Amino acid sequence: MNRTQSSTWTRRLLTGAAALSMAIGPALAQTSAKAPSKAAVTHAKGAAAVDTARLLAADAEPGSWMAAGRTYSEQRYSPLTGINKANVGKLGLAWYADVDTERGQESTPVVVDGVLYFTTAWSKLYAYDAKSGQQLWAYDPKVDPSNGAVACCDVVNRGVAAWKGKIYLGALDGRLIALDAKTGKVDWSVQTTDPKQPYTITQVPRIVKGMVIIGNAGAEYTCRGYVSAYDAATGKLKWRFYTVPAQPGDPTNTPELKKALAGWDGDFWKYGGGATAWDTILYDPKTDLIYFGTGNGLSWSQSVRSPKGGDNLFVSSVIAVHANTGKYAWHFQEVPGDEWDYDVTNPLMTADLKIGGVQRHVLMQAPKTGFFYVWDAATGKLISADKFAPLNWASKIDLKTGRPVENPEVRYTVDKAAIVQPAPLGAHNWHPMAYSPKTGLVYIPVTESTTGFQSADPKTFAVKDRVYNTATVSFSDKITELYGKPGALPRGNIRSYLEAYDPVAQKIVWKAPDKDYGAHGAMVTASNLVFSGDWSGRFNAFDARTGEKVWSAPTQADVVAAPSTYVIDGEQYVALLVGARGLPPGQARTSASSANNSRLLVFKLNASATLPQNPIAGSVAGKVLDPPLLTGTNEQVIDGEGAYGRFCSGCHGAGGVADKSIPDLRYSQVLRRLDTWNQIVLDGARADKGMVSFKKVLADGQSEAIYHYIVSQANKAKAAQAAAK
Ligand code: CA
Repeated sequence: MNRTQSSTWTRRLLTGAAALSMAIGPALAQTSAKAPSKAAVTHAKGAAAVDTARLLAADAEPGSWMAAGRTYSEQRYSPLTGINKANVGKLGLAWYADVDTERGQESTPVVVDGVLYFTTAWSKLYAYDAKSGQQLWAYDPKVDPSNGAVACCDVVNRGVAAWKGKIYLGALDGRLIALDAKTGKVDWSVQTTDPKQPYTITQVPRIVKGMVIIGNAGAEYTCRGYVSAYDAATGKLKWRFYTVPAQPGDPTNTPELKKALAGWDGDFWKYGGGATAWDTILYDPKTDLIYFGTGNGLSWSQSVRSPKGGDNLFVSSVIAVHANTGKYAWHFQEVPGDEWDYDVTNPLMTADLKIGGVQRHVLMQAPKTGFFYVWDAATGKLISADKFAPLNWASKIDLKTGRPVENPEVRYTVDKAAIVQPAPLGAHNWHPMAYSPKTGLVYIPVTESTTGFQSADPKTFAVKDRVYNTATVSFSDKITELYGKPGALPRGNIRSYLEAYDPVAQKIVWKAPDKDYGAHGAMVTASNLVFSGDWSGRFNAFDARTGEKVWSAPTQADVVAAPSTYVIDGEQYVALLVGARGLPPGQARTSASSANNSRLLVFKLNASATLPQNPIAGSVAGKVLDPPLLTGTNEQVIDGEGAYGRFCSGCHGAGGVADKSIPDLRYSQVLRRLDTWNQIVLDGARADKGMVSFKKVLADGQSEAIYHYIVSQANKAKAAQAAAK
């Protein structure tokens, strides 16, 4: 679809506040941080009076942050300059708010009409006076904790949408909920998924032309991906787009899904096929298209999912649909026949770039795969793609066909293992990236990692209910052997850092290294400051042109979320939600309500509030491994390793090493009592915390086998710690 075909509706929108930007050229308009020619209308406090015209004119009121990505382009670029390199040293804590959940806190605060809205783990939603920090209301959707067992990557939530007096929340259990922005009272609520299926929602709902657009997650379990549009006023379903075909003959198979069936083999549809669109959804008013990215197929292993291979559309693809109807416009599959969990659900953004002397309206993405893509936003035609991070799975993207030139070594079977870079967490995952039209750079939270893959046996693998069905292992003798070869890549999660990337030249400009593993979202301002937290308990500002660190403040917590910025009464604020797995090295717990010091922190110039300094009694900064002696047999440990990899590692981490804000089992006191262990694993003694009973999926003796495996892993780690001293 091109400009001349765009609907009258779009043209009408573009004649309003955006007309100026059209007249002087989009790039020029976006780079302008000057005062708007027309003063923004003032709305009553808490009105959340966001509509299409106001969002299109977001740059005319840079003091608001009206959507998670700020504008339709989701560049996470603020035209504000009140805080700049000259005064950023005076940035201090204005106020903070403790939250009563732990685990990952991933939401970006939305700030409009004087009120700041954010979500926490377990889909809880809060409204605060954005200036004083006074809580106005709180809403808990009371998600059944058993949903935590089918949340692949923690019980997180990435934030809300504001629209015409309502705040919209996607809850972990698949509900889409509209609340009165002033009171927090539920206006309507719809179940967007079959509650009997292992679907979850962690993403931000987007409002497009009076519709709420929402996808879901669950492609590691048994799900068929889809994106839905609901009437924002009533909650009535307007359209739904399925991302993979159902059984041949199924009425939900659209013409493009019927065509896609040719690239599939076997009865994959029995288990849903996967390809869930679990994070990015982007609307572009210029093309009137909605874009989203899809995740992995089900299972990960292609020899199980689609034994004769095939592209398996629309797995690992960017899909564009017409906003009004949800009908297919174009697609671009980044990873044909993916089997490395290379979701391309990572943030998409639109921008206006001068490429080869020509002004182009583009769509950009830095997906898990490590290749940065630039497409024509209207047609999906690939403009360029190159590496923004180390990777070994492909040598390049063929610009003619758009297909990766795969390294043949990275495909795996039941007999053949492979080492793959990046690992499933990706070179860049959901963590928001930011683009500054002033510097022309994209700020990407990058992670370097590798992992091993080997397939389950397609002859014996059976899909099970409500557990990981990836049909892969990441620990095996063959994988260990590969990692042991001279010149092999290092194993595991290596490091994370913020990177500035030039999307026109397709080259890395600077990196701001962290000493730790763990990515963190970014935001950039017109004063050339990039704000991002880290996993050492700091919130930092960098010079957007050079990467020089120009400011840093303590957070007492690991940071994964991205900040936002706003103005109240002439003062610029920066807000950030903190809290991720564990605590930074040496950091004590100081929050009575959250084991990982999860909080909302709000900064402004010349403020001097401080975080609590007194440790909460009983909290331990540095944990000591003290497991019981291994009493299980070798056979039990091996059986336990397999069962753990299948049923437990999704939440508790590969090899028993926790990689989320969930207890590291090797440190657990429960290892001292096998009967307590079985009460938790089999009888659901901690179901209220999300650890549901696994009685139905575990074979006899497997709970005990997993116990012995963890005891074995804990003793190995203890020995390694002792050897390192
Ligand atoms: Ca995935």
